[in-house]
Amino acid sequence: MGDEVEKARAAVPENDTIFGKILRKEIPCSFIYEDDQCVAFHDINAQAPVHFLVIPRKPIPQLSKAEDGDEQVLGHMMLVARKLAKENGLSGGFRMVLNDGPDGCQSVYHLHLHVMGGRQMGWPPG
Ligand code: AMP
Repeated sequence: MGDEVEKARAAVPENDTIFGKILRKEIPCSFIYEDDQCVAFHDINAQAPVHFLVIPRKPIPQLSKAEDGDEQVLGHMMLVARKLAKENGLSGGFRMVLNDGPDGCQSVYHLHLHVMGGRQMGWPPG
């Protein structure tokens, strides 16, 4: 089992997360985008030449815990991802990933979209 998988399997849903601290500016992070609903920043452990995360300001822990009322913010995040992918030069396409729960290899329990590009992606994912 890889380090990332082990880390994700050991992660537990928590009320506060590192992304909560980032949103409250308790730990430094340069946002590449922010609005009243979401922010985006580069992943600290990039898996591709371009790898950024889009997270909602609302602390939704994971997609499987999202509510019907979250439809608007979830759709908004995808459109922000599209806009930032274009701004970051991903004209040839990109990969968007949302990990959910232990089997999905989620390690931070504040919902986030990964957007990766700048290299050829493979399929199937690990
Ligand atoms: P996941 O495994 O889907 O929960 O992804 C969590 C992601 O958050 C990983 O790709 C980490 O590299 C990334 N990450 C964790 N801490 C930070 C941080 N302080 N700044 C940016 N990215 C982070």
